[in-house]
Amino acid sequence: MPKIISRSAVSSSLDAQPTASSAAALRVYYCICGEFILVIDRNIAALPRRKTDNAIVIRTQDTPDVKACVFKLNTVTGDPVLVERAEGHERQYRFMCPRCSLLIAYQSTPPPVKSGEYVYIVPGSLTQVQGQVPADAFEEGDDVVTT
Ligand SMILES: [Zn+2]
Repeated sequence: MPKIISRSAVSSSLDAQPTASSAAALRVYYCICGEFILVIDRNIAALPRRKTDNAIVIRTQDTPDVKACVFKLNTVTGDPVLVERAEGHERQYRFMCPRCSLLIAYQSTPPPVKSGEYVYIVPGSLTQVQGQVPADAFEEGDDVVTT
């Protein structure tokens, strides 16, 4: 068995807004291929899910009631696509893994990341343990129409 080394420690340089509480709670997520993708101040498994595709919802802007997530996404920007939904078409601006081009996240506004109110993480694309495939990686997704 290869030894799996958990890299849960995060360099303080990755923390855009260092505070004692957020720095202590930062979590790191990896692509299925092992590439470092996301550092965030929440457990993404505990974040709300989108009804349409079960994507994980990351809030990027504060509201009077809810604080935005503090996070940094290490991805490359893909081409925007149209996705078919029950209520019509939805435009997605996509963010992919820089190493294997797996679709990691999307938002409904043009780049950069966080230009819209939410960023959505594709279910099953990220894992907390480098080199381990998440349990929901092979769930059926929505049919995607690229036009
Ligand atoms: Zn990857």
